[in-house]
Amino acid sequence: MGGMDDMGGSMAPSGPGPSQGSIPCRWCKEPIMRGARKCKHCNEFQRDEDRETQKPNAWVEDEPLSTTDWIGVLCCPLIGFIQGLVYAAQGNPKAKRLMLYSAISMVFGAIIRGAGGGR
Ligand SMILES: [Zn+2]
Repeated sequence: MGGMDDMGGSMAPSGPGPSQGSIPCRWCKEPIMRGARKCKHCNEFQRDEDRETQKPNAWVEDEPLSTTDWIGVLCCPLIGFIQGLVYAAQGNPKAKRLMLYSAISMVFGAIIRGAGGGR
């Protein structure tokens, strides 16, 4: 009967918190795996360095073209395209979008001109 005491305390709950393998999320407090970089509940990174690499990309996507850019694209797509190249040289996130829109505008202009001249 001596060994029974060793088994006794092993199943006792240590507290109301999550189990040993998980920690509460920094942001939504839901239990996530210890060592997980990203919360599966709210999709937030747990480490500041991961969050910082994520943030700039998020607002780069939302960077809108200015009115001047649009005038260039619609009225004179060649100038819009050159402006896109200037942005690319400056590392401006608008560069790709401006060149894309200018290229589309040029193609449309060519189609409209071609259709008008053919008849
Ligand atoms: Zn979370």
